[in-house]
Amino acid sequence: MNLDFTADEQAFREEVRAFVRDQLPAPIRHKVLNGLHLTKQDHVTWQRTLHDQGWGGPSWPERFGGTGWDPVRQYIFEEECAAGGAPRLIPFGLKMVAPVIMAFGNATQQQRYLPKILAAEEWWCQGYSEPGAGSDLASLRTRAERIGDRYIVNGQKTWNTLGQHADWIFCLVRTDLDVKPQRGISFLLIDMRTPGITVRPIITMDGAHEVNEVWFENVEVPVENLVGEENQGWTYAKFLLGHERTNIAGIGIAKRELARLKRIATIERKRGRPLIDDPLFAAKLAEVEIDLTALELTNLRVLSAEAEKRAPGPEASILKIKGTEIQQAITELLVQAVGPYALPYRREALEAGYQQDPVGPAHAASLAANYLNMRKLSIYGGSNEIQKNIISQQMLGL
Ligand SMILES: Cc1cc2nc3c(=O)[nH]c(=O)nc-3n(C[C@H](O)[C@H](O)[C@H](O)COP(=O)(O)OP(=O)(O)OC[C@H]3O[C@@H](n4cnc5c(N)ncnc54)[C@H](O)[C@@H]3O)c2cc1C
Repeated sequence: MNLDFTADEQAFREEVRAFVRDQLPAPIRHKVLNGLHLTKQDHVTWQRTLHDQGWGGPSWPERFGGTGWDPVRQYIFEEECAAGGAPRLIPFGLKMVAPVIMAFGNATQQQRYLPKILAAEEWWCQGYSEPGAGSDLASLRTRAERIGDRYIVNGQKTWNTLGQHADWIFCLVRTDLDVKPQRGISFLLIDMRTPGITVRPIITMDGAHEVNEVWFENVEVPVENLVGEENQGWTYAKFLLGHERTNIAGIGIAKRELARLKRIATIERKRGRPLIDDPLFAAKLAEVEIDLTALELTNLRVLSAEAEKRAPGPEASILKIKGTEIQQAITELLVQAVGPYALPYRREALEAGYQQDPVGPAHAASLAANYLNMRKLSIYGGSNEIQKNIISQQMLGL
C-alpha cells in the first residue's frame, strides 16, 4: 500500500487548484469561507461551471458522462474544492440516486435522468426517513398501491433535506404489506410537481430552513418510474447508503475549517496575547489536528484499498464517526475562540448583502449558528450509534 501521491496526482492537484482559483465566482467563495448561507443558484452555478469543464460527475464513470477518476483523484478534487472555498456538491442527485440509476435503472431511465443531474438542470432530494422509520428504516409505512399503469402513493416523509428546491424525489415506498418488512419495499422516482405532494418546512435550532416534511396524498406515479424490480427496493436502498457514507468524512472541509480556526485564534486575544498561544487552547487545537491527520491517513488507506478494487466495508463507518466528531469539535472550538461574541444571534448576518455593523468581530457572526447546525452531522447518514453497532458486529465480531 502506497500512501504517497504520484507526480501525476500532484500535477492533477495543481490543475484543480488553479481551476477553483480562476473559475469559482468570488461572491460564492466569500460565502463558503465565511460560513454564510448559500442559495440554490450558488450551487447550480458551481455545478454548471464544473460541468462545462467536463468535471460535473467527479465520481461517475465516463460512459455516463463522468470523469472516470479513480478514488484518489476524487479525493484530491474534493480536498482542493473545499480548500478553495467551493460549495460542497449537493449529493442527492450526483452521489445518491445517480449510482442507483446507473446500477439498477433501465436504459430509458439512464438517458432521461442522468444528463440533467450532471448539468444541474434537475435538483433531487431523498425520501427515505419517516416519523418512526429513521434508524429502523425497514419499518417505513408510506404506501404505494399499483393500479393499472400507476402507483398511488400515500404517506409522509421527514427530515427531507433541501426538498423545497427539488424537482424530483427518490422514495422508498411499501408495495407489499404481507411479507417481511425488507421484502416489500420499492424504489420510486417521483416528480415533485405531481398533485398531492405538500412540502412543509422544518426550522432547525440554528433558525435555518434546510429540512422539510413531505406529504403524499393519492399521488399518481407512472410505473415506468419504478427503479429495478418491485419489492426489491431494500437492496437498492442499501447500495445507496454505502455511497452516502463514504462521502461523509469531510476531510477537505475539516482542514479548511481548522485553518479558519487557527486564523481566528491568532486574531483573538486572551490576557493580551493571541489565543493560539494559550496553552489550554493550543492543546485542544493540537488534539483535533492530530485526530484529523490520523483520520486522513485512515481515509487514504481506505482509498488505496478501493483503488485496488477492494470495496470499502465497515471502514466507511469509522470515517463517518470520526469525520463528524472532528467537524463538530472544530465548530465547538470556533465558538470558544470568540467567547461571548458567539452569543448575539443575527440570522440576517448569514445572508449575502448584509450591511449592518457586526456585534463583535465580523468573523464571529456565523459561528454559533454553524455550531448548532453541525450537531446534525452525527445523526444523518445513519446515526453514529448505528455506525458503532456496524463496527462492533462486522469488524469486532461482537
Ligand atoms: C439535518 C438532517 C437532515 C436529514 N436529511 C435527510 C434526507 O434528506 N432524507 C432522508 O430520508 N432522511 C434524512 N435525515 C434523516 C436521518 O437519516 C435520520 O434522522 C437518522 O437515520 C436517524 O433516524 P431518527 O431521526 O428516526 O432517529 P431514531 O432512529 O429514532 O434514533 C434516535 C436515537 O436512538 C439511537 N438508536 C436508534 N436505534 C438504535 C440502536 N439499534 N442501537 C443504538 N442506538 C440506537 C440513534 O442513534 C439516535 O441517537 C436527516 C436528518 C437530519 C438530522
